[in-house]
Amino acid sequence: MGDHARFQCFGPSPPACSSHPARYSGVSLSTRVAILGSTGSIGQSTLDVIQHLGSPYRAVGLSAHRHTEKVLDQARRFRPTAVAMSDERCADEIKSPLAELDIRLYRGESGLVDLVRRNDVDVVMSSVVGAAGLPATLAAVRAGKRLALANKESLVVAGSLLIPEARKHGVEILPVDSEHSAIFQAMRCGHASEVRRVILTASGGPFRNTPLEKLKTATVADALNHPTWKMGKKVTIDSATMFNKALELIEACWLFNLPPHKIEVMIHPESVIHSMVEFIDGSVLAQLSPPDMKTPIQYALTFPGRAHGCSRRMDWASRFSLNFEPPDFARFPALKLAYQVAQAGGTAGAVLNAANEAAVTSFLGGKIGFDAICRVVELTIQKHHVQQSPSLDDLMQADQWARATAGALADECAILPVKNDSTVMNPAPDTKGKPVIQGRQNLPSGTLT
Ligand code: MG
Repeated sequence: MGDHARFQCFGPSPPACSSHPARYSGVSLSTRVAILGSTGSIGQSTLDVIQHLGSPYRAVGLSAHRHTEKVLDQARRFRPTAVAMSDERCADEIKSPLAELDIRLYRGESGLVDLVRRNDVDVVMSSVVGAAGLPATLAAVRAGKRLALANKESLVVAGSLLIPEARKHGVEILPVDSEHSAIFQAMRCGHASEVRRVILTASGGPFRNTPLEKLKTATVADALNHPTWKMGKKVTIDSATMFNKALELIEACWLFNLPPHKIEVMIHPESVIHSMVEFIDGSVLAQLSPPDMKTPIQYALTFPGRAHGCSRRMDWASRFSLNFEPPDFARFPALKLAYQVAQAGGTAGAVLNAANEAAVTSFLGGKIGFDAICRVVELTIQKHHVQQSPSLDDLMQADQWARATAGALADECAILPVKNDSTVMNPAPDTKGKPVIQGRQNLPSGTLT
């Protein structure tokens, strides 16, 4: 990421971990959890995990945007000390019922920041979708709270700000994204200097085998028809374009202090191996589990220890195969952009993220075709002058500029030149050399991010 000095948040242990003797003694002190985005999928799974773990784990803070009924139901069940509602009008609706429960209410965008700063919060689960979670995530780091990070946009947009702040405040950032949790777990088996490369696995989405010609005319319904996962629209489209993996690649660079060329993306349709780390001696360490976000969520909460899990286990008694193939960069140009953006650092990630959000909105609205999503993002990035070491305001401005620019490009999209696919970086997957691990397993289904 340019010449910006990146911070190694954690892992390869033990050296990186030994600077926090109290927290790494085997007794976790981070048991009082504030959940940003408690009504979303990750938030609800976090509450399930907290309920499963039992005392001393406790949800002391909840936050939601507009889901008043759901957050009230959660408040009644989990009795947090505080709830933040980012939509002011919705906050009015839950004021009385929360007062009856003796629960403090925080309102508006600043309410999330107030929530994470509370003295009774040890760990903040950042699971608000999109860049909206950034101010509260940054506030959590500045308040010295342990950060369980499910919001990948925080690092993609603001890695150049968050990581130095985490270093300054001695804050641990624990990954919740399944791939990054896998890398984190594997990294603990060696030192940073011993890592040869990281293999970031990807399901490949619904267009893994679609002929390139047909991709140009793919409809919204085609793109939303993910073969394995049922997710929100934005992340499903991101899975189809592989912008989800592009964001994860940039996230991994920041989290693990890795240059982009040390991260390789590998298509693994079964999503059982959540990612791998290859060490210099040739050993490759992988983390496997049925696809269920409760597993990485629980690890982030119990780290450095482990507790009995509440998710389904691997079933080694039934037959299964694990397949791998390198991604086709012509099919998924978002990956090529990810390497460029990870290398550039600074404001580049904010621009990629915002331009992609705008382009996906244009695609879902029928304004642009599927293949134009990446072209719009690429052209927006080309127009941007990267600023290193940006402030939060600089990042927010870059975000706004990219949204406006991508929106304008989408409007002009009909006259954009069709990109020549001769810029292919990788050949089509070579099936001859494709490694296949044979075993016995029913292919699991579930939800991952
Ligand atoms: Mg993921």
